[in-house]
Amino acid sequence: MKIIVADGLSPDGLALLATVGEVVNNPKITADELVAALPEYHALVVRSRTKVTARLLEAGVQLKVIGRAGVGVDNIDVAAAVARGIVVVNSPMAASVSVAEHTLALMLALARQVPAADATLKRGEWNKSAFVGGELSGKVLGLLGLGRIGALVANRAVAFGMSVLAYDPYLTDEQIIERHAEPATFDGVLAGADYVSLHLPLTAETTGLIGAAQFDQMKPGARLVCAARGGVVDEAALRAALDSGRLAGAALDVFAQEPPSAGSIATHPKVIATPHIGAQTAEAQARAGIAIAEEVLAVLQGKDPRWRVLANE
Ligand code: NAD
Repeated sequence: MKIIVADGLSPDGLALLATVGEVVNNPKITADELVAALPEYHALVVRSRTKVTARLLEAGVQLKVIGRAGVGVDNIDVAAAVARGIVVVNSPMAASVSVAEHTLALMLALARQVPAADATLKRGEWNKSAFVGGELSGKVLGLLGLGRIGALVANRAVAFGMSVLAYDPYLTDEQIIERHAEPATFDGVLAGADYVSLHLPLTAETTGLIGAAQFDQMKPGARLVCAARGGVVDEAALRAALDSGRLAGAALDVFAQEPPSAGSIATHPKVIATPHIGAQTAEAQARAGIAIAEEVLAVLQGKDPRWRVLANE
């Protein structure tokens, strides 16, 4: 078997893959190079960088499996893969804790203006009065999407003394309550929350879901956190809501275009921005490498994988 790893993988994951075949690890391979190389491979392992398009899949004439180390499959044309009989697998559990912790880090950074305060000290200033923040305790967190990451965020927010409202149309009220949140409508979350945090996938249904009309529904002075996927938030509308003062701030780990272009929403003074690092922890990377190697091995050995992806949702 020949396996190509296109976006890098943890050493333990690479070692596990090497138990069933020849592994080529080329984390910087370009789209054209991958099209040229793919015909000889049986498995392709990616993270979020490589775009697995229908054109790429056409070149994968021997491809049996595509492994996505991580959860989001918006960089993979799953329908085109499934139509060719190629199994798509991911490792959705590996990064959940890391992303949930990063979400809390972003909320705390917004509440206390941590990056701006740090920048003043580095400029040699000592300006305590400029940094009167707010507590998370006693505030309402509104979650859109209460899956693996959303549920971990809810649990941690409760520990901070927040109350949590959640909208997730694919869960029952009982499931939402079990996940430490109070069931609410989409509009109810927007109108009721001091912090709105997004934890839903990027799909046709959720693209541009949070735009001008939704910012108008939010509490004046509310804050938005997004460590889900760029594209869910309309960045032009977010800029307008921040400029008008409707929103007090936003913290974004993900962007419609990554890396964002010069002058993007990431550079707005009321935005705290991180370069899609939610899953970038040693623990998550190690777990994802092993988990995706196990999934890919299962398919190559003719067994049922645990995390088979059937559609882009
Ligand atoms: P998940 O599938 O466990 O949870 C997503 C939840 O969203 C599900 O419960 C689903 O029912 C719900 N949902 C779907 N459509 C919805 C809608 N229109 N309105 C409200 N809820 C809706 O996924 P997860 O593992 O919790 O991941 C959540 C998000 O985090 C995804 O977008 C994923 O790509 C992203 N993510 C980001 C990073 C990062 O580095 N920042 C890392 C991993 C995952």
